[in-house]
Amino acid sequence: MDQIPVTGLKRVGPRLAERLHKLGIETVADLLFHLPARYQDRSRLRPLGALRDGDEALVEGIVADAQIGYGRRRSLKVWLRDEAGGGLMLRFFHFSRAQMEAMRPGRRLRCFGEVRQGPQTLEMVHPEVQQRPDHDDDGAQDGTAVDVPLTPIYPSTEGMQQISWRGLTDQALALLAVHPQSLADLVPAAIAAPLGLPALHEALQTVHRPPADAAVQALVERTHPACLRLAFDEMLAHQLALRRLRRERRHLTAVPLGGDGALRRRLMERLPFALTGAQQRVVDEIARDMAGIQPMMRLLQGDVGSGKTVVAALAALQAVECGRQVALMAPTELLAEQHLKSLAGWLTPLGIDVAWLSGRHKGAERAAILADLAAGTARVVVGTHALFQADVQFAELGLVVIDEQHRFGVHQRMALREKGVEQGRLPHQLIMTATPIPRSLAMAVYADLDLSVIDELPPGRTPITTAAVPDTRRDEVIERVRRACAAGRQAYWVCTLVEESEALQAQAAEDAAADLRERLGGLRIGLVHGRVKAGEREPIMAAFAAGELDLLVATTVIEVGVDVPNASLMIIENPERLGLAQLHQLRGRVGRGRVESYCLLLYHPPLTAAARERLDILRRETSGFAIADADLKMRGAGEVLGTRQAGMAAFRLADPLRDKDLVRAAQRGADRLLEDESRSGIDRVTALIHRWLGNRDDYGRV
Ligand code: ADP
Ligand code: MG
Repeated sequence: MDQIPVTGLKRVGPRLAERLHKLGIETVADLLFHLPARYQDRSRLRPLGALRDGDEALVEGIVADAQIGYGRRRSLKVWLRDEAGGGLMLRFFHFSRAQMEAMRPGRRLRCFGEVRQGPQTLEMVHPEVQQRPDHDDDGAQDGTAVDVPLTPIYPSTEGMQQISWRGLTDQALALLAVHPQSLADLVPAAIAAPLGLPALHEALQTVHRPPADAAVQALVERTHPACLRLAFDEMLAHQLALRRLRRERRHLTAVPLGGDGALRRRLMERLPFALTGAQQRVVDEIARDMAGIQPMMRLLQGDVGSGKTVVAALAALQAVECGRQVALMAPTELLAEQHLKSLAGWLTPLGIDVAWLSGRHKGAERAAILADLAAGTARVVVGTHALFQADVQFAELGLVVIDEQHRFGVHQRMALREKGVEQGRLPHQLIMTATPIPRSLAMAVYADLDLSVIDELPPGRTPITTAAVPDTRRDEVIERVRRACAAGRQAYWVCTLVEESEALQAQAAEDAAADLRERLGGLRIGLVHGRVKAGEREPIMAAFAAGELDLLVATTVIEVGVDVPNASLMIIENPERLGLAQLHQLRGRVGRGRVESYCLLLYHPPLTAAARERLDILRRETSGFAIADADLKMRGAGEVLGTRQAGMAAFRLADPLRDKDLVRAAQRGADRLLEDESRSGIDRVTALIHRWLGNRDDYGRV
């Protein structure tokens, strides 16, 4: 399987092969390890009356009425009723005459889609629709099983439909069934057997094509033995990769950058504040590392607003004191620009220019910046991904700082580091993240990094007041936005959807923005979501940052690092759909200035007990670490919600927070495998790492 290229499969032409290549899928084996991100449960028909906002459901009913509405946007509205008396509205923004015809009153339809709260009633926007015979002649009744199983939904890419993923994986699974020996189970029985989990082939088969009688909930929550088996293999591969990195690290050398402290003292004298004890401690840890002959590889964790940037500035000055260059990389243009502003504010008065390189720099401008970096005349540069492109060269790069590391893959981190290699000596590295991960887990996930934590916020912050408000009080909340903006402050309005479909997310945000524009006439309202191109998004964000917009309506794209101190109000719609960590990150966008800030969690009642508990935690706790701990405990209790933990994005299937026992087993397994390997000489380790980590940078980005 490792040898058969995907182009050997049916219906894989050059274009499809190119798309697969972008996802790192070259061989049939790669396809087998491209695992479903989740499942659609089409195994049961749900009564219309039992549907809740956010459900993804298979329903059936008779069209009671169908009309074209001319609201803000022309749409076809179809009212569905079922025998139990429940109702649901289907809504189509694009529809053909034939579709209208097929959804005439009296017709029986079976639909699959996401349920959401519309302006009047629960609705499904653009569901998949299937015509049914007028009466129920196949015997399917509400609540009884029908013969459509769990449908896998694969992580995808622009232009690839789920149906083609299913076709491809069908072929791969068929090959596996005929030639089982062609895909080796790389985990020795001695390590795998004690776990009591299924064999690799069986696990792959189950996860790709769950049998009709599979434990639906366990598969959805990824606690099914088949998922655990694959999660174990994946974590084992990570542990092996990290141990290798660590082993290699012992042989690495760096130029020691002790510095005389002169520039750092001058900055400290000019700062309008004193460092907190925690900042001072991590500054010392970093200073000590950089003075050593081994390259620093330090992860700096600090809650949003804990003051990581000034710590980075001090590290940068230490390198500059030693005549070395510094590169600071941020995941988006906006964040990079913010860093540029902070650093320039601090460093320019000391006579150090801060250069800036982003994807926007082209042609002569870009060439000039590159020349300065290569000649060493630019000492400090701030930038985005543009910094690790092949043509960027440094004269003497001494320190690499990376902000919000989870947005970058390990490989990108390495690529930037390679640029500083000088006679075999590497630059020092500082990686910053606001994602609070308990220390023990951080060590498991980032085993190649040393850890520093800023566990204290600067004094004088007014804590954010968080309140949960049912969406029946939406009008009051909108009024609240008006008042805040009238008082000269700014607000965020965040729309959430569980669906990974950017189209639906974008639609929800557009609907909300249109509604708010209508009701908040006179306010300047901006809108950003995943469908707004980066080049168009940045100016909107910049306008908001500059105070030229009063209200920013957004999806969760605004998560990390945006610093607009005048924004003091955040509304999060349907917070019950997000994980605690993500909610905390979002909330960190307010409370950055002097004025008192508020975060309103506009939920849709009724809440489940677990959802209520999570919103309560958020109301009570303001520290990211306390929230991470509470999250962990709740998950321990079996509740798995918001599993896409930002800092853990590097995993496809494993979740170190959820699968704590597996992490430990994988750690032990990795030690054992490395030991055996040195004796047996069989290179399973490399094969396992390749199988799960491959060479994909975008690994895990679902
Ligand atoms: P983050 O850790 O989220 O990146 P920042 O570095 O953006 O936080 O800092 C948030 C704000 O706090 C900035 O305006 C920064 O200047 C300020 N700040 C940092 N350290 C202190 C301190 N010790 N006392 C007061 N304000 C500080
Ligand atoms: Mg920051």
